[in-house]
Amino acid sequence: MAGRRIPLAAAIVAGLAIDKVKDIFVTDYPQCPLEVCEPPAGEGSYSDQDFERLALDPRVPARVRVRLKVANEQAQEIVGRARARMPESEQREQEARLRAIVGARTSPKEGRIRALYQLAEDRGRAIAMEAPCKRGCAHCCHIGVTVSETEARLIAKASGRRVTHVPMTTFSHRQILDYENPCPFLRAGECSIYENRPLACRTQCSADVDSLLCELVPEVEIPVPYFDLTPLKAAFVAVCGNDVYADIRDFFPTL
Ligand code: SF4
Ligand code: SF4
Repeated sequence: MAGRRIPLAAAIVAGLAIDKVKDIFVTDYPQCPLEVCEPPAGEGSYSDQDFERLALDPRVPARVRVRLKVANEQAQEIVGRARARMPESEQREQEARLRAIVGARTSPKEGRIRALYQLAEDRGRAIAMEAPCKRGCAHCCHIGVTVSETEARLIAKASGRRVTHVPMTTFSHRQILDYENPCPFLRAGECSIYENRPLACRTQCSADVDSLLCELVPEVEIPVPYFDLTPLKAAFVAVCGNDVYADIRDFFPTL
């Protein structure tokens, strides 16, 4: 699926300017369902060419190659089970909340972002019963983590860390494929700001049976089947607007 290791805003922004994303979202919003459990066409699976390339790549561990053969099919089943766990009434209620958050344009961004966090948590309950993700599973704390300037301020307030000014021109999604440069908030293998973690982390939900495909293989990007939480991500971009977006490491350098 989006199986790519491109978190949050970057998942939307990769290849698309933020303004364009907002245009698309605002245009489509009235019809935009909160279909967070539906992998979008073209994202929900990796291509045959991708698989063939990886199957022949000697850098890819054999057990990963075996998993890649079945991961896509398994992901569809996992997604289906998660969706079945969510009653329609709950889905409608969450859609209404999403619309309200996006529509509250005159309210402070901080409160709207917190409301999105709560929505991600509520939405994640059905997913959590099927996904392998859990607190303390931290492979995804070693890849790029895109946050907005407003989120960075929220994290600074909660953690007591000083947020570094990042110029508007800095936007960069970090492609990280090793364990050498973890998120600065990872402490002894656990998130030290779990209750205040950014939306990127709340929407990084694997639709695989375990974290095998999340394990980083140096220099090789392994596709991971993630649940599709695009509506939440799009709402996030709509709320944060023209914020600076950068990697969490840029806002909070370790030194
Ligand atoms: S996305 Fe992967 S690494 Fe991150 S918590 Fe889920 S299973 Fe673990
Ligand atoms: S904020 Fe927490 S959950 Fe997110 S990448 Fe950093 S350590 Fe991991």
